[in-house]
Amino acid sequence: MPRSTRKTMVARSSNQVLGLVLTILGLAPIIVVLLNAWTSGISLLNLSALYEFLWSNPFYLGFGIGFELFYLVIVSTVIIISGLALLARRMRQIEEVTVVSDDLAVTLECTVCKHRWEEHFSQTQLQAMGFPQNRTISRRRCQECRKFTRPKIIGL
Ligand SMILES: [Zn+2]
Repeated sequence: MPRSTRKTMVARSSNQVLGLVLTILGLAPIIVVLLNAWTSGISLLNLSALYEFLWSNPFYLGFGIGFELFYLVIVSTVIIISGLALLARRMRQIEEVTVVSDDLAVTLECTVCKHRWEEHFSQTQLQAMGFPQNRTISRRRCQECRKFTRPKIIGL
């Protein structure tokens, strides 16, 4: 029995764009903070010095509102994680819509011009049409002679 795997891509590009934007938005402050630490003469490999730097340097939003860089890094990390989660969710949705169906390639023949073509039917569709006792299917237009016909099933 010929089996065909039908893969349907569901467009979730808005989610993907949002995920990417969030990831970049989260990464940018971390890069800026690390660059600042580096230009202040702190080795990025020296974690305790870096930790100290994050706590001793406030980040000013303006209007006298400021908070330690440490919080900025935490917030950025949360933003990156949500961005990556959005991207991951999109991947999962694509996997979920990959369905295996028992489609059969059926060869049909036009009763007017004998033109042959293939169409896909599921087992249940074929049974509902009364196949194999009934070998003609519902009316449709022939691509070759442009006439309406009830094509004959001549093979699976
Ligand atoms: Zn025809």
